[in-house]
Amino acid sequence: MYRDVQLHIDGQWRGAEGGRTIPVLNPATEEVIGTVAHASKGDLDAALDAAAKGFKLWAKVSAYDRSKVMRKAADLLRERAGDIARLMTLEQGKPLAEAKMETLAAADIIDWFAEEARRAYGRVIPARAQGVYQLVVKEPVGPVAAFTPWNFPINQVVRKLSAALAAGCSIIVKAPEETPASPAELIRAFVDAGVPASVIGLIYGVPAEISEYLIPHPVIRKVTFTGSTPVGKQLSALAGAHMKRITMELGGHSPVIVFEDADVDAAAKQIAAAKFRNAGQVCVSPTRFMVQEKAYDQFVERFVAHAKTIKVGNGLEDGIQMGPLANERRVPAIEALLADAQQKGAEVKTGGSRIGNKGYFFEPTVVTGVTREMRMMNEEPFGPLAMIFPFSDFDEAVEEANRLPYGLASYAYTRSAKTANAIAASVEAGMMTINHLGLALPEVPFGGVKDSGFGSEGGSEAIEAYLNPKFVSQAGI
Ligand code: NAD
Repeated sequence: MYRDVQLHIDGQWRGAEGGRTIPVLNPATEEVIGTVAHASKGDLDAALDAAAKGFKLWAKVSAYDRSKVMRKAADLLRERAGDIARLMTLEQGKPLAEAKMETLAAADIIDWFAEEARRAYGRVIPARAQGVYQLVVKEPVGPVAAFTPWNFPINQVVRKLSAALAAGCSIIVKAPEETPASPAELIRAFVDAGVPASVIGLIYGVPAEISEYLIPHPVIRKVTFTGSTPVGKQLSALAGAHMKRITMELGGHSPVIVFEDADVDAAAKQIAAAKFRNAGQVCVSPTRFMVQEKAYDQFVERFVAHAKTIKVGNGLEDGIQMGPLANERRVPAIEALLADAQQKGAEVKTGGSRIGNKGYFFEPTVVTGVTREMRMMNEEPFGPLAMIFPFSDFDEAVEEANRLPYGLASYAYTRSAKTANAIAASVEAGMMTINHLGLALPEVPFGGVKDSGFGSEGGSEAIEAYLNPKFVSQAGI
């Protein structure tokens, strides 16, 4: 059922010029399940020509009509969610239920941006002179180049695609080569819903070659990327050199601060489930679990107990809660972090090893006795790895939370409104959720500060990133 994945350029689904393809693997079995077309320079030129043409067309379509087409795409996605989720599990590994949730959530995101399309209001500024109207109107920024990763093959595309289309932009999506089929189905939903040919391009290939060609190209007016901080910095520098607007959604190393007055059992259960979702390959994954001394032992015990219950296996099978890591290189990456920590005295409370020798399965892993000298306390783990350590007071927790250059998501648990207010005000992060898991809804901002990036992929801020304000001052004759 996994079909070979093609490019989508100027309304055509087609192979790459020159016919090059690369294999796609199932991370649960290591079997080749299909191929993905690999764009050449000629394909990129064709995609750029189409994006320029598509922008002229789409920017003139009324917000009302853009919104209608987008809503239709959302409905098609909902209808097809079962089949699309299977493709996603096959290529990415996550449990089928998570894949289906991601697909259905994408439909909600499209609906939200379809609504925002009709609310991209400008404003009227009171003038100093009689008879003068000072207007601010919002115009689409222009053709967009979007680069998206493999951890949420649909979700990472849909936020960029929906915001761009809602604003009236055309877009070229460089989707992930390792998980290409499910994002292609997302694009197909938009195409089938009636987005005109040439408005959406879909390409795959060598990421660095594509970004180096598209970002400086005069057709592209906006760059949006989700991935690691080092790559994000490179792409931002390139975009800056060519004065292109950017949205960067990069890495994190999210602190979880559990105060001793929290409901410790409930907190441990909730945040452990969040930790191992998508095998921890989530930019907002909770990673540094700091627990106030009095609650520490209880939290560790409950968290470890939960980690031990997680059923790991092929995401297509019933009851599986965690699939494999999405690609081969994540296994040695996690092993290296663990070896470094153990050598420096950390204790592995549960997990710590690869499972079997077929598929990239790794045990849900909990580590204690960690110190700041360990790599895992400084580098984004991006895997099923939790490190838990105690703190004594509020200031110490804040100092640790803000120690790293990252600032994406943060989590806290406390029964005190005073502590909740204070912690929300003190942690350097783009997002904080307290006493529940409340991040990543379409209608709320999603983004980071410091090395975690720039801009928002949710809420009304997200569409603003695809709009230029134009000031018009008009006097009566
Ligand atoms: P990587 O840094 O090689 O790649 C990350 C993503 O960026 C991939 O999708 C890749 O295709 C893309 N990319 C890499 N170089 C690029 C370039 N020059 N131009 C355009 N795109 C480029 O890392 P990886 O091994 O794929 O993933 C591991 C790390 O990446 C993780 O540790 C994590 O920090 C980060 N990551 C973050 C997210 C996120 O949601 N923020 C998603 C995936 C990966």
